[in-house]
Amino acid sequence: MRRVAETALLLGSFNPGKLREMRQLLEGMSYRVLGPADVGVGEPPDETGRSFIENAVLKARYYAGQSGLLAVADDSGLSVGALGGGPGLYSSRFGGEGASDDDRNRLLLERLRGVAPERRGARFTSAVAVARDDRLLFQAEENVEGLIAQEPRGGNGFGYDPVFFYPPFGKTFGELSRGEKDRVSHRGKSFARLREFLGILPAPL
Ligand code: IMP
Repeated sequence: MRRVAETALLLGSFNPGKLREMRQLLEGMSYRVLGPADVGVGEPPDETGRSFIENAVLKARYYAGQSGLLAVADDSGLSVGALGGGPGLYSSRFGGEGASDDDRNRLLLERLRGVAPERRGARFTSAVAVARDDRLLFQAEENVEGLIAQEPRGGNGFGYDPVFFYPPFGKTFGELSRGEKDRVSHRGKSFARLREFLGILPAPL
């Protein structure tokens, strides 16, 4: 059944690359998809959770509370075995305030200099949550496994994509087309589950 009026859905992220990807992953759904700037939410919450899912839930609740809208948040990151799981929850802060994606990728490669290919295993995680008012409506978490490349390759995607080598395709995520990344990525998989949930969510009365 089609919704009579499109329900507004706020994507809670200030990361332009992630926001673009989240919008694309919801294309074709009958929701009016908005970003924080569209609704005057000026700053993100502190990410004080101890896991990706805790942070996703905290963010979804925050954006729902700030806007009065249905809100979706993704908390994600890259966990590298040789770095004891880091940068993990701190992926967006790796390299400090003001560091660019290129700076972070350089720092990561520097930390792994001399580490053999078989010890360069890494995992991307995407935890996604949906809230309305203070109610948590949905949560899901998905991963994708790969290796940290020896050098950055490809200009697609965002963040750590150029250094995340995905063996089944023989390419980094930075070298994948949008469709290729969405089929196999952590966020592609968590958002497939989100789409299923949003597809059955009744519109508010
Ligand atoms: P947050 O979830 O906004 O706290 O930040 C997640 C951080 O993890 C991003 O700023 C990126 O650095 C990294 N990240 C998450 N997902 C991806 C991805 O799909 N590609 C590349 N980097 C990612």
